[in-house]
Amino acid sequence: MYSRILLPTDGSETTDRAFDHAVDLAKTYGADLHVLYVIDATVFANDVETGTIVEEFESVGDRVVERVARRARDAGVEPTTTAVVRGTPHQRILEYAAEFDVDVVVMGTHGRTGLDRYLLGSVTEKVVRLSDVPVLTVRHGPASET
Ligand code: ATP
Ligand code: MN
Repeated sequence: MYSRILLPTDGSETTDRAFDHAVDLAKTYGADLHVLYVIDATVFANDVETGTIVEEFESVGDRVVERVARRARDAGVEPTTTAVVRGTPHQRILEYAAEFDVDVVVMGTHGRTGLDRYLLGSVTEKVVRLSDVPVLTVRHGPASET
């Protein structure tokens, strides 16, 4: 059922609990894990698109996905692949899922902004609405609160 699992991360610790679920699914099903970071191009003006700011975001993205992937490999998930792409986060997540024939997307309910008054963060909400494959959303917070 699950051969390829996609874990999008924005580098915030809210991904931690989603991570646990993604890793457990991957181990249970012997699935590949894909860790994806999207450089949010919507925050750049067109003229900075090619500048050093974007390069800095790229190295931030590389660090984020490598950190998550190292933890996944340490937990025994092989192969774990990483990707850093540029664009509109929810669109790129959906495109990646289609391109790599992903079976399930695992993501936090909230990310960097983390406004709890919203049921879901905007990226997660759009992915849930538009995804062709199941999306497992994981709320962040201590286990005692869940
Ligand atoms: P906001 O709607 O203000 O961004 P938020 O940051 O709390 O609120 P989301 O951005 O929807 O909420 O984040 C929820 C989840 O979406 C994250 O845990 C992560 O899995 C995924 N996500 C968000 N942004 C990105 C990104 N740039 N690249 C990859 N995954 C992302
Ligand atoms: Mn966000």
